[in-house]
Amino acid sequence: MYKPFPRSTAFRFGLAGAAFGFAYAVFALISPSIFSGFHEYVHLFLAPLLLGGAAFIVGREEDRIREQARLLDAARRRFSSLTHFAITERDWEVSFHDPAIPTCWQMKKCESVDCPSYGKHHVRCWLVAGTFCRGEVQGHFAQKLGDCSRCEVYQEAVEHDPINEIRENFNSLMWALREKEEMLAAANQDLKDQFHELEALQQKTREMAETDMLTGLKNHGHFQDQLKEEVVHAQQQGKPLSLIMFDLDRFKSVNDDFGHQRGDQVLKAIGRLVREEMRIGRDYAARYGGEEFVIIMAGVDSAAAIEAADKLRAQIRRLAKDLEMPQRYVAASFGVADLPTCASDAGSLISAADAALLFAKRKGRDRVAYFRDLSRTELKEGDLDKLHSRLEGASLQTIRALAEAVDACDQYSAIDAATMSRVAQEMAVRLGMNQEQADALSMAARLHDIGKIGIPGSVLRKTEKLSAEELVLVRQHPEMGQRILEEAKQIQELVAAILYHHERWDGAGYPEHLQGEQIPLMARIVGIMDAYRAMLSDRPYRKALTIDEAVSELRKGAGSQFDPRLVDLFVDLVRQGEAPPELKQAG
Ligand code: GH3
Ligand code: MG
Ligand code: MG
Repeated sequence: MYKPFPRSTAFRFGLAGAAFGFAYAVFALISPSIFSGFHEYVHLFLAPLLLGGAAFIVGREEDRIREQARLLDAARRRFSSLTHFAITERDWEVSFHDPAIPTCWQMKKCESVDCPSYGKHHVRCWLVAGTFCRGEVQGHFAQKLGDCSRCEVYQEAVEHDPINEIRENFNSLMWALREKEEMLAAANQDLKDQFHELEALQQKTREMAETDMLTGLKNHGHFQDQLKEEVVHAQQQGKPLSLIMFDLDRFKSVNDDFGHQRGDQVLKAIGRLVREEMRIGRDYAARYGGEEFVIIMAGVDSAAAIEAADKLRAQIRRLAKDLEMPQRYVAASFGVADLPTCASDAGSLISAADAALLFAKRKGRDRVAYFRDLSRTELKEGDLDKLHSRLEGASLQTIRALAEAVDACDQYSAIDAATMSRVAQEMAVRLGMNQEQADALSMAARLHDIGKIGIPGSVLRKTEKLSAEELVLVRQHPEMGQRILEEAKQIQELVAAILYHHERWDGAGYPEHLQGEQIPLMARIVGIMDAYRAMLSDRPYRKALTIDEAVSELRKGAGSQFDPRLVDLFVDLVRQGEAPPELKQAG
């Protein structure tokens, strides 16, 4: 706060100094005995006079400033008292406490009980719309900035003090702001509610999109995503993962003999049973399609998965009683496959479990089969047809996965199919093929033996000489491969490579005794790689050859069994160390 110098002190000193100088001069004049000559003491007059004059001027200026400060201070105090009245804020409620302003109640001579919603002390009618007093609306301007002027209470208030008008405009503004804020808050709340509703709806839609409505289990699409995720997780953690796939036995006859509704009831009961049996938070179950189901068991090896599958199989049998159906209508066959034993990715794991399930069906149904125990030998012509129909319209990826699943359990191969396809890529580059051709060749190298799925293993693994009949059977595998793949339209260009990979340069091969360049280039390459792979692998009747021995075998066959130019190229790749290291190690 501004603290002024004691009022007019300088001015008073100025006057006192001037008066003293003047008195001194007069005294000197009337008493010449004291001073010998006036002119000697003239400075005694002048000094106080000058001093007094200067002090007078300074004092007057200071008084002017002091007066301005006083006015300013008064204005400041008035302003702060005004704002004190005007802005009393309680949770945005702005009200006046100026006792000088009349209230509705006083003006209308009514009691606050007549208007029970509002207290007498803080209500001014122009702030409150619809304030009733003796049944009449006393104020109706609250929300409308500017309308206050029509209120008689307002008019009364501003008549005596124009500053009230400013206050009221300020208050109306505050009120309008408050209203807007409330509207905003309400709109915000609405938005929040809608957002929560939308979230709940989204959650429901998501659940519906991934749930099978009939059984309450997850659906096919979600299973595919889940399996991929779990496979990656299991591989990162180095933990096993098992996949159980089961299919209801002769379910068509349930529909045929009891109707579709009973069929649906059975499917629902299966869904319920599976949900009850799952290890909560660890197992995952889905309806794969129709009457086929899958269960992913993370961290579980094949032995435990087979046990779990067998337990579920027994429980499904027991459902017949609850469903009041003859036993033969309620049973299921199970296929089990696991990581890392039987597959290296989600696709091949499904194919392996699927193949095991097929095997369980063929062995008589109502049983569990494990992929590794299923020897390819057990698949028969009928199975091949089934496999064939399963592959109908299948993507290349699915077929590749199947080939991989079969490879995974092929104990006779020292070099895996993936290595073969990499070598094929290198050959393609050397032969100046384009990328598309290189991919096709690589695929052919990988899938060329897929037809062996249809040949009894007892024949494939036979250590003694094959009988003529068995030889015929073995020689069917290129055609079987062609049959398996012919429905997968997108890989037609591979089929020739697979069909002719056992043809010989000299025309003594099979199935069509093609000769020299009649044999498609890809088939000639695959033929060399297949032979080389076989030479480097242990066979029941001989040990694996070394790389040197295998190369010399290839050279021996150049011009008779193999295209000599391609043998040179292939040997070159192996010799110059351009072939992948796995291939070199295999020797
Ligand atoms: P298998 O033992 O070889 O598996 O014989 P299956 O009769 O179970 O197999 P098939 O594939 O011949 O028949 C499956 C039947 O499942 C045919 C189809 O009508 C029925 N099915 C698939 N989905 C549903 C469904 O949602 N509800 C009903 N009621 N039946 C279904
Ligand atoms: Mg079935
Ligand atoms: Mg089925």
